[in-house]
This record gives sequence, structure tokens and C-alpha cells, in this order.
Amino acid sequence: MEDKIRLGISSCLLGQNVRYDGGHKLDRYLTDTLGQYVEYVPVCPEVECGLGIPRESMRLVGNPESPRLVTVRTGQDLTERMQTWAKKRVGELEREGLCGFIFKSDSPSSGMERVKVYNEKGMPEKAGRGMFARAFMEHFPLIPVEEEGRLHDPKLRESFIESIFTLKRWREVVQDRKSLGNLVGFHTQHKLLTLSHSEKHYRAMGKLVAEGEKLPLNELYTQYETLLMEALKLRTTLKKNGNVLQHMMGYFKEQLSKDEKQELLEILDEYREGYIPLIVPITLINHYVRKYQQDYLKEQVYLNPHPMALQLRNHA
Ligand code: SF4
Repeated sequence: MEDKIRLGISSCLLGQNVRYDGGHKLDRYLTDTLGQYVEYVPVCPEVECGLGIPRESMRLVGNPESPRLVTVRTGQDLTERMQTWAKKRVGELEREGLCGFIFKSDSPSSGMERVKVYNEKGMPEKAGRGMFARAFMEHFPLIPVEEEGRLHDPKLRESFIESIFTLKRWREVVQDRKSLGNLVGFHTQHKLLTLSHSEKHYRAMGKLVAEGEKLPLNELYTQYETLLMEALKLRTTLKKNGNVLQHMMGYFKEQLSKDEKQELLEILDEYREGYIPLIVPITLINHYVRKYQQDYLKEQVYLNPHPMALQLRNHA
């Protein structure tokens, strides 16, 4: 990939002193590790909508589905101000080519989920979404989103990073000349990756591409992107990955020796049982792909969906 992946991010996670108390919430994994592959577009809703630093802290109150944003000490209602700004800002972000957004958890402006919403008795319920996060997710329903806290979970991290790298590759195809051939090329490379998320989407995308000539190209690309991003939102599991690995093994039927077959089957079983991480069977299959020059599998993004240095697929 020539350009870095562009990701929106809550500014305080980059170490910017924009919090209500003048502090930040620097997350070193995001800046130092993931930061090597991405270019961040920082957004601080509270500062950008014109509130100062420091400022009074605020919280969500009322109905969790449509709460109001109110300052804690003086009870100032900032709902309209924030909503008006958020609507304008998400419109501007359309031009930024974002492949994802990382939100600051628990914030009444930026939190993605389980943000406290206070009822009329002053009791909190963790059922809300920050006001800007809500506007962003409604405006860009297909763009991958996560929170910094959830990204410490290896599975959620892997899933988010796989999605942003895939969306970046897709964007490059879209920016190139639109053609059925280019779409078929992308689809072929991403078949097994898609299958590891959803067999239903894998089949639907295959059908869409096979009948691609029946649709205008723009419509075809839009429908394909929707299916792709929907598929990526569905979690991979040991069972789904196990099926993909088994499927790949079929490509070596003729070449693998009895011993090699036995070893691979044992490793697949250990993976399915949850004893070893995905990187183990993937490494062995990559070895056979090279050894036996398996051209179809060589092209599969599933075998190499993100840089090794990110150390994903390492958890059992
Ligand atoms: S959580 Fe959001 S609103 Fe609060 S300081 Fe961070 S970026 Fe700004």
C-alpha cells in the first residue's frame, strides 16, 4: 500500500491536551504501533464545537436513544450546539477518505457504546452513545469503528485492523478505473477472507460478481461494498476459520505427502480446539503455498491480511 490508511480518532487519544480538565488520554499502542500504518485525522467534538479548555464537565441525560448533553455543575444544555456542529463535521469528513474511526470510550461526546446516561433521579445507566459518535455512525454506517479500550482485546483489535486494511484496499480499487475486471480481481483475492466471516455473504458476493454485467458499474460497486463491509462486521470464529483452513488444504490434495497431510490435520484440530493461535496453521499453509507454488492461494489476502509486525492472530 502506497498511502497510509486514514483513520479518524478522538484527539485526546493522540495525547492532545483537549480534555475538560486540560489533560489527555494518550494511547501508546495507537500512536506508536498502529500509528506506523495509519494517518490520523483527529476530532475533538467538545473543543471543535467551541467549548474551551478547561471547561465544565458534561454528561448525557434522559432517554438513552436520544439523550441531551448537559453540563454537570450549571446544567447548561449543549445538545443543539453539539448536534449542529456534528452534522456539519461529518459532512466535512466525507472528503477525508476515512477507513475507520477510533473513539474515546465513556465520553458523552465521543464514546461509541455503553456511555452513561442519567435519568431524572440522577441514576446512570450504561446504555448511551456519545453525541458525535452517534452522528458519525449514522452518517457512515459501513465504516469500521472501535474504541481504544476495546482495542486492547486481541480479537476485537484483529477484527478492526483487518477491516480497515480491507477497506483501504477496496478504496484503491474504487479509485482506479471502475471495471468488472477490477472488481473480479479484488473479489478473487478476498474470497477466503470473506468466507472466514460469513458464508452467506461470500455466496451473495460471488453471485453478484458472476452476474455483474446485468448491473450498471456504479450500482454493482455500491452493492458489493455494502456486502463486503457487512461481512467484515460479522466475527470470525474457530469454526469459521477452521472451515477456511480445511478448504485451503483441499488445494494441496495432490502435492502433500502423507506425513505433511497428517501434520496439517493435527494442527487444524489443535486450532479448532482453541489450543493454538491462528497464526500457526496459517504459517504452515503459507509454507506449503510457497513450496508447491499454489497460485490461487498465493493471491489470497486471508493468508496475509495485515503486516506481521502488528502481531495479530497470535491469541488462542
Ligand atoms: S473524549 Fe472526545 S470530546 Fe472528550 S477530549 Fe477526547 S476527543 Fe475531546
